[in-house]
Amino acid sequence: MDKLSERRKPIVAMENASFDIIIVGGGISGSFVAKYLTQAGLRCLMLEAGQHYKKGEYPSREVDANSQLYWGGGMELNTSADLVFLRPKVLGGGSVVNQALVDRFDDDAWDSWKHASGVSYFESSQMAQWYDKAETEISIQYIDEKFRNGNAKIFAEGFDINGFKYAPLRRAQTDCKTEQGNDCIDCLAGCKLESKQSMPWTLLKRANATGNLTILSEFEVERVSESDTAVQIEGTRRGGITQKFTAKKLVLAGGAIGNSKLLLHSGFQDRLPALGRGFYTHPQFMNLGIYAHRVNAFKGAFQALKSDDPGFRKGGFKLENVFGPPGGISMLVSRLGLPHQEVMEKLPYMGCIEVAVRDTNPGQIRVNKAGVVTIRKTLNEEDEKRRARGFDAIEKIFKSTHAQRVIEGQFGIGLHLMGGCNMGTDPANSVVGPDFKLHGFKRTFAADSSIFPNAPGINPSLTIMALACKAAEEIRA
Ligand SMILES: Cc1cc2nc3c(=O)[nH]c(=O)nc-3n(C[C@H](O)[C@H](O)[C@H](O)COP(=O)(O)OP(=O)(O)OC[C@H]3O[C@@H](n4cnc5c(N)ncnc54)[C@H](O)[C@@H]3O)c2cc1C
Repeated sequence: MDKLSERRKPIVAMENASFDIIIVGGGISGSFVAKYLTQAGLRCLMLEAGQHYKKGEYPSREVDANSQLYWGGGMELNTSADLVFLRPKVLGGGSVVNQALVDRFDDDAWDSWKHASGVSYFESSQMAQWYDKAETEISIQYIDEKFRNGNAKIFAEGFDINGFKYAPLRRAQTDCKTEQGNDCIDCLAGCKLESKQSMPWTLLKRANATGNLTILSEFEVERVSESDTAVQIEGTRRGGITQKFTAKKLVLAGGAIGNSKLLLHSGFQDRLPALGRGFYTHPQFMNLGIYAHRVNAFKGAFQALKSDDPGFRKGGFKLENVFGPPGGISMLVSRLGLPHQEVMEKLPYMGCIEVAVRDTNPGQIRVNKAGVVTIRKTLNEEDEKRRARGFDAIEKIFKSTHAQRVIEGQFGIGLHLMGGCNMGTDPANSVVGPDFKLHGFKRTFAADSSIFPNAPGINPSLTIMALACKAAEEIRA
């Protein structure tokens, strides 16, 4: 039996199996760690709350994709209900649903991390070897000029007219068959071509080939604990079956909200006072320009360009040409009834640019008495200024390219969920040490987006991969 089909095996057979490492979460970080540890000969058990889809099985309707590939049925809200979080729940995590844009951090991002955390290796020169290693695992391509769709052309023209700098996007993909008419927007619900470098057919496939990996999908870990000799997890499998597993070491790779929730639920806050704090999201606001001609922003490579303007970086925001499926776009339009219908009828005529804010106001993740996660996260005055600067630039771009109307998106979306278990040298204000171990613990590690000390203002996934490569070395040692 294919090891990736473990979920179909009778659960009882697993009970007495012995493992070196338990990995909670089968997303980007978990898959990288699994690949390196299994290759080093360690027997790993990966527990993933989401489903394991095979090629051709991903949902094809927007509503099914939202409800089947994300926690909370597609979106979770902050306590003031003005920020939406999209938190992946599927084997492969964010790599299945994300846009796969991969960027290295610049000096500015590393400096701010080093300053916030006291971690000495947070430097471009020291992290270069881990980026190099991560990049050997995935195919990366720049989106070629010939694949720019109508929305990207508006973006480029508006940037040129206004003297802003832009650059092509760098994406983890092999062959998106754009010239054959494939529309990449489809792969927000899982890539049907296996071109996007999602974990199930890249890192997990290689980990599986070692024979040392067991994956249990649709298994939510609810409690973790560590003793002098072992770690233990307890969780529930689909159907309500509760199970426990033990191993020598534990790797938490459940993402920012997932790791915080699990550790809070397991009572770790008494020993880790910073747990759940320092939560960032790069709040993104999508804005629409309505044109007289068809833009067809959903066609082909629906994202091709990003801002690369030093003034924007200094101003704390970046812009990307982006689009979304119709349900998502309709939520940006505030009005109801006929006025809403009139705007939505213009879908093919819409250009769309998002401003992503490098947020400065840390949020807090909590778990209430009922065990439910609540997230306090707002934009402070500085963040609002950053958003406004970005929107000003977008308005200029739309107006200078003759948009008939500009619509400012109604709410922020958090896709880059970071922090909650921040890395740092001081246990009073951080959760994870520079060796990726939880402060005061010997066997429990975290190496995913939850350890980010602040918002870098740059796509996070390549850095998550690089950190996971480094963490795997520490865990193995
Ligand atoms: C629509 C979208 C577009 C994005 N586009 C980009 C992009 O272009 N570039 C970029 O860099 N980033 C992008 N991101 C963000 C990026 O995907 C995430 O930052 C990244 O996936 C985080 O990696 P991770 O390993 O920390 O967690 P994830 O990849 O989120 O994996 C965590 C996994 O752990 C599982 N889990 C959590 N708790 C438990 C538990 N208790 N028990 C069992 N399993 C659990 C979850 O179900 C999930 O599958 C995007 C995100 C979204 C949603």
